[in-house]
Amino acid sequence: MDPARRKRINLYKKIIMAVVILSILIPLVLCVVLLGQVFSLKNEIESLDAFQNSIFADMQSMNYGETEKQSVQNEGGEDGASLLIDEGQQQQTLGTGDKSQSSIIETPPDAPKESPASDNDTEKQDTTSLEADAMPEAALQTTPEETTTEDNRKKVYLTFDDGPSSNTDAILDILKEYNAKATFFVNGKNSAVYAGQYKRIVEEGHTLAMHSYTHVYADVYASVDAFLDDMHRLRDYLYELTGVESCIYRFPGGSSNTISKIDIREFGRALAEEGIVYFDWNVSSGDAVSPAKSADEIYDSVVSGVVKKKTPVVLMHDMKSKKTTVEALPRILQFLVDNDYNIAALDSSSELVQHRKID
Ligand code: ZN
Repeated sequence: MDPARRKRINLYKKIIMAVVILSILIPLVLCVVLLGQVFSLKNEIESLDAFQNSIFADMQSMNYGETEKQSVQNEGGEDGASLLIDEGQQQQTLGTGDKSQSSIIETPPDAPKESPASDNDTEKQDTTSLEADAMPEAALQTTPEETTTEDNRKKVYLTFDDGPSSNTDAILDILKEYNAKATFFVNGKNSAVYAGQYKRIVEEGHTLAMHSYTHVYADVYASVDAFLDDMHRLRDYLYELTGVESCIYRFPGGSSNTISKIDIREFGRALAEEGIVYFDWNVSSGDAVSPAKSADEIYDSVVSGVVKKKTPVVLMHDMKSKKTTVEALPRILQFLVDNDYNIAALDSSSELVQHRKID
């Protein structure tokens, strides 16, 4: 064989080898990269699911203004979930294909609206004094702290829904710094990490309040029995961890939600029979919407709402994705301190703020 030919054959051999090796390596590398993407998308889906749950709560407190609708529609587009808003029917459907995660909200005709014009009316509708005979004796026993008088400063109640989360410690640190108390409407999260946070909430004098164990609307509102089972599960879990029997509740989606086929007042009465009072909110931080509001926007929403209300109960979220809430918190607290507010935790004798009342 002539050397030139041999050289050519060797070259072909090398090329074939290279092609074989590359055809093995390239799919392998692609597999690794795609696997990484699958995991990161999985995380994203989890946080979107959590967000989806929380957004309903926030929608209830808003005026369904154009901006909010826009942002919610964007959210629907981003995560592939379909979100239809029909102003005529005032009904939204948000679904991801997972039945347990999809819910329907209709705004009831008497749902509270927050607009500057109707603010006084809303305030009247939202808040009522808790009459001594309105609640069973048991409702008045728990959650100690500063129900005591003397402090004539105007009270403000900051509430954090859907925790604990990876932000809980940061929120608690900030509250401590400003010597402020708050109310945490928690879900049941069965992990060692969160166990410490439930305890810390109690140890630092905040109110540990209930917001359903699962926060899955279809389960929580399936029936009065299912609702009570879920509540008992959470109450027992919290008691086991902290020794505190929680007696304050916030309905997932608020008491004005109409996700539930059953009249929300039936659940409210069932709670009252167990000595539990429920609270909604009359100021929204707006932190449930997506894309996330900036810390500035959250600060503005809270401050402008607080100054309008006689007894401001502020809705915020304690969720991993709500970083701007944590960012806004020091400034919100500074404003409240500068304006001589008593930043207090809810207890069963606090003035009730409820979108829908039992009677
Ligand atoms: Zn919630």
